[in-house]
Amino acid sequence: MLWFFFYGQKHRDESEKTSLHEDGISTYLQYTTMSFNIARNGAQKRVVIVGGGFGGLKVANALRQSPYQVILIDKNNYHQFPPLIYQIASAGLEPSAIAFPFRKLFHGCKNVHFRMAELRSIFPEKNIIQTSIGKIDYDYLVLATGTTSNFFGNKHIEEEAIPMKTLSEAMGLRNALLSNLERSITCATEQERRELLNIVIVGGGATGVEIAGALSEMKRYILPADYPDMDKELLHIYLIEAGERLLGNMSPISSQKAEKFLREMGVDVRLGELVTDYHAHQVILKDGTAIPTRTLIWVSGVKAVATDNLPEFCFGRGGRLKVDACNRTEVADNIFAIGDQCIMTCDTNYPDGHPQLAQVAIQQGKLLAQNLIRLAHDKPMQPFRYKNLGTMATIGRNRAVAEIGCIKTQGIVAWFLWLTVHLRPILGVRNKINILLNWIWNYFSYDQSLRIILYAKKAKEVIEREKRETVTHWGDDLKKEHDIRQEDTPEANNKPKE
Ligand SMILES: Cc1cc2nc3c(=O)[nH]c(=O)nc-3n(C[C@H](O)[C@H](O)[C@H](O)COP(=O)(O)OP(=O)(O)OC[C@H]3O[C@@H](n4cnc5c(N)ncnc54)[C@H](O)[C@@H]3O)c2cc1C
Repeated sequence: MLWFFFYGQKHRDESEKTSLHEDGISTYLQYTTMSFNIARNGAQKRVVIVGGGFGGLKVANALRQSPYQVILIDKNNYHQFPPLIYQIASAGLEPSAIAFPFRKLFHGCKNVHFRMAELRSIFPEKNIIQTSIGKIDYDYLVLATGTTSNFFGNKHIEEEAIPMKTLSEAMGLRNALLSNLERSITCATEQERRELLNIVIVGGGATGVEIAGALSEMKRYILPADYPDMDKELLHIYLIEAGERLLGNMSPISSQKAEKFLREMGVDVRLGELVTDYHAHQVILKDGTAIPTRTLIWVSGVKAVATDNLPEFCFGRGGRLKVDACNRTEVADNIFAIGDQCIMTCDTNYPDGHPQLAQVAIQQGKLLAQNLIRLAHDKPMQPFRYKNLGTMATIGRNRAVAEIGCIKTQGIVAWFLWLTVHLRPILGVRNKINILLNWIWNYFSYDQSLRIILYAKKAKEVIEREKRETVTHWGDDLKKEHDIRQEDTPEANNKPKE
């Protein structure tokens, strides 16, 4: 049996060596030397946190100077602030204003290490995870990888729509919007012009409402100045929602007000309509209506980032990992999941699980760090209870809706509340000042000057490394070892041989 494992491993190494050389993208040496390069610190226990979003970063921050060695892993080298992503997409802010490099956050902090890597598989029985840069073992594992866009199995939409969940997607959307505007001036046919000037946003949650509002302000204030030879009324913004109201997680009064604001701003709000397909530059609705567009913005749903090699029973609705009141998963007692990645149904106020919001991730991250410290001192963990600090969405200048406890407010007061609440948690004084100055400037000038179309060109070295990393480190050696052990169990040995 063991022979099979080593044979399998050798065979895989050989085939990888060949395929890598065939592609001409790497040397065998580079592949074999990829490693975390973090030594265990004596008997110090190790916490590995995967995902440096709101939840994961909170855990890492709270475990500074704790008795643990902390390893934070994220596929990006920066923390981002999703609530303001729509302002990046609509050219209102520059990306660096809402992003902060992890390494800078942990300057001088000896027990926290950062590695830029993507999680691939978990091997709970070995306390090891496999990532794009190799394996690492843990004593406690915290999964905080959040969510990704859900296209509900529609391949056309997945391939062609523009999602808006990450900074790079927001930059992709900004470039597409601006370059479509440029082409609408020079295109050859009326049909093409219509397609270029129709923007269809699918999903009437906070993100859909916010980007619709921002684009309609762009239409009103920017277009006439930047494109004097274009009739701005040709730019048509649709907001399509399958439910009967916008902002389904807020009260009906906030929904109605948001809808009223958007209609006043010229957005074509379509409620109770389902998008079923997108092809040949046409968005198809369930009733057969076709809307021509080359800009389909998909903000309609999310699902948890998939975690490989875990049993089916661990997952709940939306692919979220089921957790108990202390955020322990059903996989193992030393594997925790927090934030958007998990679903906790034992909080009596939220029997269907908490909403996927920043505050849930932050509060769970904070408590989990405290619980890990309790464990280090042999104390029992405390259960989580979500404290709802309120929900809000902004629609445009002086227009927002906010619900804090029993207070529901709309319009300018809600707008100021929204500005304050969203400025406070931005990381870094420079970023805060930058955003505040931008907002003040935009408010008084009705303009911002970030409308350049700029595509990043990757260096050859980076392209090759990324290509190399997609074919290596999939944990096949560990999976094979696991399969061999399964074969060695008495149940497997009693199975009739074929
Ligand atoms: C556009 C937008 C607007 C939003 N607006 C609001 C709002 O106004 N108010 C509000 O409360 N909530 C808002 N949300 C929701 C809020 O951002 C999430 O609920 C919150 O970010 C969840 O935190 P998290 O830590 O669970 O995950 P995230 O903050 O999503 O962090 C996940 C991290 O994991 C990393 N990652 C993902 N996969 C891997 C992998 N395989 N390997 C390594 N790293 C990985 C990502 O790079 C990321 O850093 C918004 C979300 C979006 C997308």
